[in-house]
Amino acid sequence: MTLPEKFAARVLSELGPEEGAALCAALDTEPPVSVRLNPAKCAGAAEPGAVQDGTGAAPGGYGSPQGSSGTDVPAPLPVLQNADGRVPWCADGYYLAVRPQFTFDSDFHAGAYYVQEASSQFVGRLMGGEGVAGKRILDLCAAPGGKTTLYASLAGPDGLVVANEIDRRRAQVLADNVRKWGTGNVAVTTCEPRQLGDFEAWFDMVAVDAPCSGEGMFRKDAQARAEWSEGNVKLCAARQDGILREAWRALKPGGRLIYSTCTFNRDEDEGALERMLAWAGDEVAEAEDMAVDGAWGIVCGRVGAFRTYRFYPYRARGEGFFAAVACKAYDAGGRCRTPKARRTVFAQVDKASAAELRRWVRTPERMCFAAVGDTCYGYYVAQAEAVKALGEALPVIYAGVAMGQFFKGSLRPDPALAFFCGLNREAVSAAELDEAQALCYLRRQEVAAGAFAEGVNLVCARGRALGFAKRIGNRVNNMYPNTLRIIKR
Ligand code: SAM
Repeated sequence: MTLPEKFAARVLSELGPEEGAALCAALDTEPPVSVRLNPAKCAGAAEPGAVQDGTGAAPGGYGSPQGSSGTDVPAPLPVLQNADGRVPWCADGYYLAVRPQFTFDSDFHAGAYYVQEASSQFVGRLMGGEGVAGKRILDLCAAPGGKTTLYASLAGPDGLVVANEIDRRRAQVLADNVRKWGTGNVAVTTCEPRQLGDFEAWFDMVAVDAPCSGEGMFRKDAQARAEWSEGNVKLCAARQDGILREAWRALKPGGRLIYSTCTFNRDEDEGALERMLAWAGDEVAEAEDMAVDGAWGIVCGRVGAFRTYRFYPYRARGEGFFAAVACKAYDAGGRCRTPKARRTVFAQVDKASAAELRRWVRTPERMCFAAVGDTCYGYYVAQAEAVKALGEALPVIYAGVAMGQFFKGSLRPDPALAFFCGLNREAVSAAELDEAQALCYLRRQEVAAGAFAEGVNLVCARGRALGFAKRIGNRVNNMYPNTLRIIKR
């Protein structure tokens, strides 16, 4: 499908005949493929054939590293045998020379990496890299969760990411990706931005990855081309203005706002910032300067106090992307306000259950537990009060880590617990499967009982956990969730 005529005419006039033609030509080429590794599941496993000493702690403070059962050394990632260089602006990002069938790679299902377009990975840098640890972050337009998982890794166990998605179906996909990523420091909400704006001055950082007209997706997505129109650009711009107002309310004085789109037009990019500056004025302050290597091909600019970053696919190795960062001035005013609780969601767990739950995690002193309905959840203490306040006022569909349900005093572990980076591997027997058996497990087919101990087992491939299964005699009861099972042949 050809590019929309009016779009092509606009970029030729805005960028000039040479650059405009280069952009249009780039939109007819194959996009690069890239992944971002999960540092808590891949520490030392990134370089194919790398020698690991297995002595370091997993990044982010989840305790000792998640490695193969019995060893603490994570296996190398076969997906990186196909690596074609690193994403220069993201420590965990890698390009791949060809697109593998991710569905048939157990590491993909273990949450060892996220398939994420390279330009988008830049937002981690805008957040402030390692300075994000322990911060409370709002990701207002979050599904399917590419940026949420990046923020969650940066925030670590003392931080919290509130990942919101207005569309309920997409919010479920977001929750699945959050479970799989396994950091245990994310709350997934599904509501309108206004309801999060009511948590006034609550967040250290707010990210708006706005719904947009998607011009940057034109080479990946024929539908983006088909649905594009000038009218839709205007509609998107108006919607972005509304979302930015709510984002600003939720941001603390001194906090950081990141605005991004995957589109090229001014109306939705610089224009959105200009319109915001018109009502927020002096409340918007500059964020500190950030090093951007000229060789990366990013076009840096400014709109008032905002620093802006544009990715054109004919200059930078990634998809079309626009990002901007600014801070809320310290003297912007506004006090932290928590909306009233509407319901009680969390029930206490009894002493014996709490003791059993503590056994399943590596840093029990940093966690607390509560029951929501029949299921027990674990939360990092540092943000437990915040999760409670959110859960009592908003539709939270997932938060912390689902630990499981108790039957006759013993824990039937939730599938999410297998993915949890803070899982204590000593709490349960582990069955290490080869890749063929792992795929049978992920399809919910029968697996051979040989590798399993009697009772509940953590199912691993290359040392990375995929879920649980229970051996009863010669039979293995596959506990992998039906909703996640591989269907593709
Ligand atoms: N941040 C995501 C990621 O990195 O995986 C991608 C987000 S996507 C660009 C924008 C999201 O905004 C979509 O999931 C869309 O459903 C959601 N959205 C649509 N309308 C919205 C609205 N009025 N307010 C907030 N979010 C909206």
